[in-house]
Amino acid sequence: QAKLAGKNRYFLFDTAQARYMREHHQSVEHIRVALDGDEFVLHYQPKVNMRTGDVIGVEALIRWQHPEQGLLAPANFLPIIEEHRLAIELGNWVIESALIQILDWQQSGLTLPVSVNIAARHLRQPDFATQLAKLLAKYPSVAPAMLELEVLETSTLGDLAQVSKTLEECRVLGVALSLDDFGTGYSSLTYLKRLPTNIIKVDQSFIRDILEDPEDLAILDGVLSLAKAFGRQVIAEGVETLAHGDSLLRMGCDLAQGYGIARPMPAADIPSWITHWQPAPQWAKIRRLNRNE
Ligand code: C2E
Ligand code: MG
Ligand code: MG
Ligand code: MG
Repeated sequence: QAKLAGKNRYFLFDTAQARYMREHHQSVEHIRVALDGDEFVLHYQPKVNMRTGDVIGVEALIRWQHPEQGLLAPANFLPIIEEHRLAIELGNWVIESALIQILDWQQSGLTLPVSVNIAARHLRQPDFATQLAKLLAKYPSVAPAMLELEVLETSTLGDLAQVSKTLEECRVLGVALSLDDFGTGYSSLTYLKRLPTNIIKVDQSFIRDILEDPEDLAILDGVLSLAKAFGRQVIAEGVETLAHGDSLLRMGCDLAQGYGIARPMPAADIPSWITHWQPAPQWAKIRRLNRNE
């Protein structure tokens, strides 16, 4: 070591950049160990039809049950592995865990579609659909339509042709596809046109302010019209209060997900949540204001 240091004029390993790289590498390594040690878990957030009271599915959201730091949200660890192969391994773990969960619920008499979030790095793999087909084949009693892939508009950046080809292959496999965080990308309308996604998830940033902000309400109205023209379903994300639900129903958006309905929860809590949940009584009476449905 000393000899090496003596030869080199710069102590590269002492610079901030080197330290950053070393720590970064360590945290990637921590995540790998955590994956091998089974420290990740999926929580599930219900998605409902506010008008009919049906629970239409759940979204799987990853958490890290960290031995010292407790339950960590994805923002604490997904960015670290964004550009690593590990993102693909973790993504496959998420897909397989969701399939196992669907099967588990199915065997207890509960038919519940599950959506999973797909990282850009994962989706850009040319063999993504082939790997997905292999996972689906491992669980032949799970219908592919029970699985939904949530794709971010931004995953397609730079490679729209490749990603739309992959999504087309996934569509052929029979899985459902949704465009997540819709409206936050640079050219949402292009994605809507080019990607074979049957569901649009309107980003929570547009939903949050619909009660006060006429512009966000207008955006939502536009998205609903477009979705109708394109034959897509719309689901509102980040529905935090019953009043948001009222407003969405008036606009003609019946499908919703958000803390105002349910927070993400462990899989074990889902069946009893479904048994007990009831839509707000006023929701059944709300008339649609416009042509959208
Ligand atoms: P997302 O897919 O848009 O998921 C919705 C996020 O908003 C979740 O945060 C959820 O807990 C939160 N949320 C739900 N309802 C409300 C609400 O009413 N108000 C507010 N303020 N937030 C709400 P979470 O679980 O922290 O996940 C954040 C993001 O991390 C997700 O955004 C998704 O992009 C990503 N993510 C989560 N799980 C996975 C995964 O398994 N794989 C990949 N690649 N990404 C994941
Ligand atoms: Mg999502
Ligand atoms: Mg989203
Ligand atoms: Mg998001």
